[in-house]
Amino acid sequence: MLDSNQIHVMIEQERLEARIQELGKQISKDYEGKEILLVCVLKGGVMFMAQLAKYITVPLTMDFMVLSSYGNELISSGTVDIKKDIDEPLEGRHVLIIEDIVDTGRTLWFLKKLLEERHAASVKICTMLDKPARRVKPVEAEYTGFVIEDEFVLGYGLDYEQRYRNLPYIAYVSKADGEEK
Ligand code: 5GP
Repeated sequence: MLDSNQIHVMIEQERLEARIQELGKQISKDYEGKEILLVCVLKGGVMFMAQLAKYITVPLTMDFMVLSSYGNELISSGTVDIKKDIDEPLEGRHVLIIEDIVDTGRTLWFLKKLLEERHAASVKICTMLDKPARRVKPVEAEYTGFVIEDEFVLGYGLDYEQRYRNLPYIAYVSKADGEEK
């Protein structure tokens, strides 16, 4: 558990949700006349997708994937495994990957390539947050909520040891008192 004084608001709920609404409008415009398959990367992407989907006006379906991520660590393990795959065939579909945050880019680099190999008509990325400072793979999202500094963040789907996903805002974590900066 974290001390409550280690958790600091970075992006308030109102600002975050206003931006998500803008993204929904932009996506609706860009995909006009098409149907989208939203592929949510669990668990972190769930709150973002639920909020975003309310503002998308073109027809859509939703599916979910579980990929390995940080576990309980604050740093990336470097490998990606599929723990749960999507249920539907992708041939000819317009896929929009919904992710909580792009950090090193390893997860999305792997996932985008995988979905493209399944002959989707298009595969694009929509991420709530982008942390470009630690990128090791050349991943660029077509839709980005906010670009952030190199901080460990939680809330709005993002966890620390599986907790704090329910915070309605994005917060960053500072070191505990006495810990080295
Ligand atoms: P990447 O493969 O781009 O390094 O990392 C992607 C995944 O790592 C994200 O989907 C997320 O689950 C996790 N991650 C990266 N940065 C953070 C962070 O600052 N906070 C949390 N809670 N998870 C993060």
